[in-house]
Amino acid sequence: MGRLQREKQWSCKSPRKKQHKCYSKNFDKVGRSERLIVVANCYSTTQQNSSRLVLFVKIKHQRAEQTVSKYQEIRLQNLPPELNPWPDYIAERLRLYEELKKESDSLLAAKAADSRPIVVELPDGQKLSGKSWITTPYQLACDISQGLADRAVVSRVNGELWDLDRPLENNCSLEILNFDSEEAQAVYWHSSAHILGEAMERFYGGCLCYGPPIENGFYYDMFMDGQKSVSSSEFGDLEVLCKTVMKDKQPFERLEISKQTLLEMFQYNKFKCRILNEKVSTPTTTVYRCGPLIDLCRGPHVRHTGKVKAMKIYKNSSTYWEGRSDMETLQRIYGISFPDSKMLKEWERFQEEAKNRDHRKIGKDQELFFFHDLSPGSCFFLPRGAFIYNTLTEFIRDEYWRRGFEEVASPNIYNSKLWETSGHWQHYSENMFSFPVEDDVFALKPMNCPGHCLMFSHRPRSWRELPLRLADFGVLHRNELSGTLTGLTRVRRFQQDDAHIFCAMDQIEIEMKGCLDFLRCVYGVFGFSFQLHLSTRPEKYLGDISVWNQAEKQLENSLNEFGEPWKLNPGDGAFYGPKIDIKIKDAIGRYHQCATIQLDFQLPIRFNLTFMGKDGDDKARPVIIHRAILGSVERMIAILTENYGGRRCWWGLNVQNVREPCVAFFILFTCQVCKQFTEAGFMADADLDSGCLLNKKIRNAQLAQYNFILVVGEKEKMTNGVNVRTRDNKVHGELPLSEVMARLTLLKRSRCRNAEEEF
Ligand SMILES: [Zn+2]
Ligand SMILES: [Zn+2]
Repeated sequence: MGRLQREKQWSCKSPRKKQHKCYSKNFDKVGRSERLIVVANCYSTTQQNSSRLVLFVKIKHQRAEQTVSKYQEIRLQNLPPELNPWPDYIAERLRLYEELKKESDSLLAAKAADSRPIVVELPDGQKLSGKSWITTPYQLACDISQGLADRAVVSRVNGELWDLDRPLENNCSLEILNFDSEEAQAVYWHSSAHILGEAMERFYGGCLCYGPPIENGFYYDMFMDGQKSVSSSEFGDLEVLCKTVMKDKQPFERLEISKQTLLEMFQYNKFKCRILNEKVSTPTTTVYRCGPLIDLCRGPHVRHTGKVKAMKIYKNSSTYWEGRSDMETLQRIYGISFPDSKMLKEWERFQEEAKNRDHRKIGKDQELFFFHDLSPGSCFFLPRGAFIYNTLTEFIRDEYWRRGFEEVASPNIYNSKLWETSGHWQHYSENMFSFPVEDDVFALKPMNCPGHCLMFSHRPRSWRELPLRLADFGVLHRNELSGTLTGLTRVRRFQQDDAHIFCAMDQIEIEMKGCLDFLRCVYGVFGFSFQLHLSTRPEKYLGDISVWNQAEKQLENSLNEFGEPWKLNPGDGAFYGPKIDIKIKDAIGRYHQCATIQLDFQLPIRFNLTFMGKDGDDKARPVIIHRAILGSVERMIAILTENYGGRRCWWGLNVQNVREPCVAFFILFTCQVCKQFTEAGFMADADLDSGCLLNKKIRNAQLAQYNFILVVGEKEKMTNGVNVRTRDNKVHGELPLSEVMARLTLLKRSRCRNAEEEF
């Protein structure tokens, strides 16, 4: 009740009496406005949404000190703790911004006064009319339907992502994107990073660095003088602070400013100055404001902070400026947000599921592999893990025989001269492990291609030999920063099912078909569905445009003939050739990029590779197709493990013999059975612990994900049989040992995914 009385006391003589009444009746809003009195110290504009701020500034002026202190008392009771006062740079930044904003607004007003009619074309061909420098995408969306406008995250104008409230300048095409679109999702999460950034400034007061969207939400990095670090116990307060920012519906305002002025605006933050000096090459760039936060950013964003309905802060870590260990230590906070709290709940459930499937946990529980500090990022595969590793490479090797690939073995270390020729030394050397050898510098190979080029060129080649498909499981090393290494998904040492196809220009199409068929076969066996994207010539490309066109046409043909749906990523190819990107979808709906099919016109030129053409041209140039299906075998093991939740099938098929607790005679017999399976290439173990009851043994074997459990007891010994059951406790009963062996061998060979059922 005390609060209501205080509100009465505060009733002011503002000309906006009406609005004031409205606020003072609403507890919630008054509560927030009380907090905003601190904001009011910095805010002094009369822009939209700020009427209540102005109102309370007046109250503050009208009231004596004691009333102000009462405000603060309430603020502390009802709102998350934040710095009081806010860091000085916030007010200073806003002051400068507001001056510039006034100038920019009058410029825009002048342009709007000169407005002319424009035509805006929608994706379905429909044409709308608008006014240049006045009409915004949001207004047009409202004209189409309020539902569309409400769901809109961002727009696309002439192919460029565009703020919904930014006036259109000319005749243009317009597309309204909602959260379903991946690009809009990135904009949404990026906008959420600003909300988090605002909360971090108000809570910690440090210097914000980068705040990008990522696959799973977004993060923001902050420099805190190296003194303080973030604790997960602060997430709750930060979330509440973010929520108040969201409730405030702070509009995202875009402002273009000269680099010089920006250096002044961000002089308190050496990191933003570094970005300005090192990354911005244009005379002006943009900042965006939401509430008290002004951030260097190219945009675009959602319309206002209220568009973000549900947010969660889920992780923090410490990192370095731009990931460089010789630079400042930064605090990173990760968050995720959605337009609907149900979606956040769904995401949280999903995270829980993913955590249970985490390959690092399963790898440890099932004794598949481990890592050691003495060789970070290089995996130790234990016998069971190595068994899986080899089964996977054997699978691909079998297919190589069938598909005309020839396996080769090539060196691991090369003189740096090779890397100079391939271009790696100029562009990739910081990711390579290099070391002196005699008078030269050598390096561990990060990829196989340059070595294969030497193989191609070690003697003259004829068109008759093409296509030459060289496959190599060579061990590769990449010097990833130790802080970025994660399980088997980001490693320093790995092997790929790598191959390079050297072919003539007119063989591309048929080779592509072969590659696509190969990947359908492999992913089919794993049970993965996949997405295909054709990435074409980028703006900065090397080589002859007619060669590019011809190659892209062939890729398109092969994709069409393949019969699976595919999408075009125009301009997304590498500078040295177009490519097909393949993403597989796992059992819990996550996408992973594993396979690559990449054309390369440049490497054959760099290595001056030639062959004797059909027409007698002895300088004919081959094309190289880099291709892999598993990608990194290490990473594929992580994906498979998580996809099946640790339930291995043919690629890890294993058998456990257990015996009834009995006399030594039977122990000998069980060992015999186990040995027979091992000799046949199965991962088989015998449980000979005489202190454990049979049922307990079976349960243990099932929990350890043994596909089949064979019980050998006194009765089975007499008949030379085994009693078969599965990890799902399906009992197949007693069968002759030889028959079990034959059936399991067949199932393993057929690479069947549910051997336990098919048995
Ligand atoms: Zn931004
Ligand atoms: Zn390659």
